[in-house]
Amino acid sequence: MNNIENLKQEALTKHIPIMQDEGISFLLRFIKEHHIKHILEIGSAIGYSAIRFASISDDIYVTTIEKDEDRYMQAINNINNFNLNNRIEIINGDALDIDIEGQFDLIFIDAAKGQYIKFFEKYKNNLKDNGIIVSDNLSFHGLVADPSKIRNRNTKQLVKKIKKYIDFLKTNDEYETVFYTYGDGISISYRKNDK
Ligand code: SAH
Ligand code: MG
Repeated sequence: MNNIENLKQEALTKHIPIMQDEGISFLLRFIKEHHIKHILEIGSAIGYSAIRFASISDDIYVTTIEKDEDRYMQAINNINNFNLNNRIEIINGDALDIDIEGQFDLIFIDAAKGQYIKFFEKYKNNLKDNGIIVSDNLSFHGLVADPSKIRNRNTKQLVKKIKKYIDFLKTNDEYETVFYTYGDGISISYRKNDK
């Protein structure tokens, strides 16, 4: 199977939280327009977004980290089916426990929503001077804007942490962040030039 639509449907059927259409379209356009070549992704799931990024052009390289072993195995299989194993490197591990070598044009944070500040602080060291950090799911199904809809205690805690991350970005003096409502809410953080 090497049809992206099939892969998307498979993910949706298995309730794997892949990027939404509007969010991925926006990000793919951004990658093209800014000539981004080296991408680090935190949270591969079954490889859907990594495959979309690498499919833009054959000079794009993706390193992606997935902690769940079963999803990692599925991602390897999918990446092979798309013949992208030469340009997508997938690592099985907890992104907070491992160290990645190299500098990237874009770091995409799309893993455990409660850990975004930690991912940001750790992986900004792998960002090129003019690199950007992209974060997904900042709306969290609209619950960040309207927490009164939340029934479940864990979700409440998670939404609190997402809010905290948004504040962290807004008050960060090393990075300037722009927030978008595409998909499930995406932000783009640019390193300030004078730092
Ligand atoms: N980027 C994917 C979706 C990722 S879903 C896409 O759009 O196609 C989030 C994934 O992050 C899950 O598969 C989860 O197992 C993984 N994850 C959560 N915490 C992690 C961590 N600390 N390190 C690595 N992966 C993590
Ligand atoms: Mg996401």
